[in-house]
Amino acid sequence: MFAMALADLQEELISTQREIDALQLKQSRLAAQFAAGDEWDDEGFASAIDWIRFNCKVTSSVAANYVAVGKAVLTETIREMGAGRLGFAHVVAMARTAQAVGRRFDEAGLLPVALESSPGRFHYKCLHYRHSIDATAYKEEQEHVAEGRSLHLSTAEDGSLLLSGVLDPISGAEVRQALEPLARPSGAHDDRTRDQRMADAFYEKVTGNRTVNLQVTATVETLRGLVGAAAGEMEFSLPISAASVQRIACDCSVARVLLSQDSVAIDLGRSKRVVSAGLRSALKIRDGHCQWPGCERTASFCDGHHVVHWVDGGATNLENMVLLCKRHHRMVH
Ligand SMILES: [Zn+2]
Ligand SMILES: [Zn+2]
Repeated sequence: MFAMALADLQEELISTQREIDALQLKQSRLAAQFAAGDEWDDEGFASAIDWIRFNCKVTSSVAANYVAVGKAVLTETIREMGAGRLGFAHVVAMARTAQAVGRRFDEAGLLPVALESSPGRFHYKCLHYRHSIDATAYKEEQEHVAEGRSLHLSTAEDGSLLLSGVLDPISGAEVRQALEPLARPSGAHDDRTRDQRMADAFYEKVTGNRTVNLQVTATVETLRGLVGAAAGEMEFSLPISAASVQRIACDCSVARVLLSQDSVAIDLGRSKRVVSAGLRSALKIRDGHCQWPGCERTASFCDGHHVVHWVDGGATNLENMVLLCKRHHRMVH
């Protein structure tokens, strides 16, 4: 295909979307017609939406949107869509609202709001509208949504932790509020993707209060990074690399390291190498934030890094320690 001139390309994007919208409307009418019958039941599906989800290979919310749009009487809204002033997404928000508020639905009242809003914004305003019509039903709906909450943790073959889950809108918003400030780029040098920053923020938030007491078991050879040494061990994890053992052991306030040799475990953790609360706060005051050039991650999310590792005889004092954020601490080791 030849490259199009920009103006033609833009026009093509818009007109193609209008065709897609028209096809989605057609699909909605078919879906509603199908949902009016019960053939899906004969075929062993839980609902018409479930049948559409499986056979048309869409998500269940897409299938539910088709049925809602097809069932709703939205003459004016669909006319505006035909004229290119609204998108199918507006029609979906309108139909879902009609479905939620029933007989009290007022298309003429909502249409001007739709015409002046993006689909996302319109959906948001529709939620306010639903609340204003029936606050009790809205509350019940939110409670119903909260029942669907879940968090599933599993370990992948490569040892990564896989997370999947759903939070109710309020808890979800609180989690976002807690993570977003931590997920901001930590300076111009920060080349992490947004997803990576989010993952780091999540990790920092969950572990950052330092009540986590990691226990790592490794041999002295592993801790020294000697060739031929076995990997370290940590609960809930596959064997961890020597570099990771060194990093975790470096900030003794989060870890207790058991050094094992000839199956005899010797505790060289907190008792001998503890970073005292006084030293930690002195370090925080002196450094203020991560000392990696250009990084401004604040002290509470930093580790105390031993410049000369204690296993090599480095002292646990202010002269031998420097604040590093998790990411740069990992890079240093
Ligand atoms: Zn370190
Ligand atoms: Zn840093």
